[in-house]
Amino acid sequence: MSTIAAISTPLAAGGIGVIRISGERAIEIASRCFRPFHGRPVSEMKGYTAAYGSVFDETGEIDDGVLTVFRAPKSYTGENTAEISCHGGLLILQKTLRLVLSLGAQPAGPGEFTKRAFLNGKMDLAQAESVMRLISAQGELALSAARGACRGTVSRQIDAICQKLIETDAALAAWADYPDEDIPAVEPGALADTLRDCAGRLGRLIGNYDNGRAATEGVNTVICGKPNVGKSTLMNLLSGGERSIVTEIAGTTRDVVEQTVRLGDIVLRLSDTAGIRETDEPVEQIGVERAKEKTDEAELVLLVLDRSRETDAEDLALLRRTQHKNRIVILNKCDRPAAFSVGSLPAAAEDCVSVSAKDASAVDALLPVILRKTGAAGLDFTEGLLSSERQRQCCENARASLLQALEALETGITADAVTVDVDAAIDALLTLTGKKAGEAVVEEVFRSFCVGK
Ligand code: GDP
Repeated sequence: MSTIAAISTPLAAGGIGVIRISGERAIEIASRCFRPFHGRPVSEMKGYTAAYGSVFDETGEIDDGVLTVFRAPKSYTGENTAEISCHGGLLILQKTLRLVLSLGAQPAGPGEFTKRAFLNGKMDLAQAESVMRLISAQGELALSAARGACRGTVSRQIDAICQKLIETDAALAAWADYPDEDIPAVEPGALADTLRDCAGRLGRLIGNYDNGRAATEGVNTVICGKPNVGKSTLMNLLSGGERSIVTEIAGTTRDVVEQTVRLGDIVLRLSDTAGIRETDEPVEQIGVERAKEKTDEAELVLLVLDRSRETDAEDLALLRRTQHKNRIVILNKCDRPAAFSVGSLPAAAEDCVSVSAKDASAVDALLPVILRKTGAAGLDFTEGLLSSERQRQCCENARASLLQALEALETGITADAVTVDVDAAIDALLTLTGKKAGEAVVEEVFRSFCVGK
């Protein structure tokens, strides 16, 4: 396999930048562009050691920095690896990378270091995928789930389920193949229990993934409502900033303002939309149209009403428009006398929250409702959190096969038919962890990675 290299730190000026080289020739290449100040050759450096020295090309010194050496198989990729940490100037990094490439390394593709770690058995596919989750985690819960997945919580769960199914399969096969021998009959009740237990565990992983998206990817959330009800004030409160313009003139938020907001353990991708109202003003009209589109696409709608004014036809139109959405009706300006009662609204009382967006404690009132509405209440990732849609699909396929096997059992179909379904479930799980994943699957997984990881 070729020796690869990439800049592993972000492409921006920084205190330190790291060039990572991995492959058979990594240490040799490093020795041709890095000279330790202690005078001993790079080729004699042991694994897990570092040396301070200079990065040089034929014209002289490019920078001074630290070389860290890892020797196969004790490295991230499982190959010989050299990491040159130099000053994090873009020019320095690019010059150093170019130098390393000129000495024979190939530019690493997206995720190629992690892909090699997978191919060298350092981690399975589920763990590799969680590396990206770890890098992109925005909240504590998402971070600890990703860290767990990197260390194998999901893989262990999947392996355990798989092992159980393989044992079941073996028992079924022995029983079906040698009916005359003294092999104990597979007891349908116990078999059904095993299949049900495995399907249940997969179901929990799937459910956790779906609900956990609020913590990992964020929920696409729209704040909508008539002009002047307090949408921007609410947005500013939630985001703790001053991104939306708050004024007393109706119709100032002309376009959609977006912000990613972390609330406790969950992440909302918030859009504050233009006030939705009938208007002839062309610029405002565009904003209103975009607001409608955004509202239709949203996973969670925060519909704001002004509690201190009677509801009118526009409020009712918005309530109707969002009635089938996952929605929270926010009755704002509750610091003023209420002009209508919650009961008079065409909305479930448990979905309505009275707040004053001008008061910071509004967040405390809103948070439990948001957690409930996003399915994030009581998230628990101790059983492991799947890292991707692909993993979810594998679990879903395995679960569907197991449910089919259960159905076959109930209708008294032969053990052979059950075996086919159990085999399909095992295949799906082996694809998940990559023990039996085709090249296309592996390619797909690493395509979304960044270069240098
Ligand atoms: P938007 O057009 O829906 O974005 O509304 P804004 O956030 O711009 O607010 C319109 C006006 O209502 C501003 O003067 C805010 O200060 C005021 N406002 C917003 N929330 C509250 C609240 O909870 N109580 C009171 N009394 N005024 C509020």
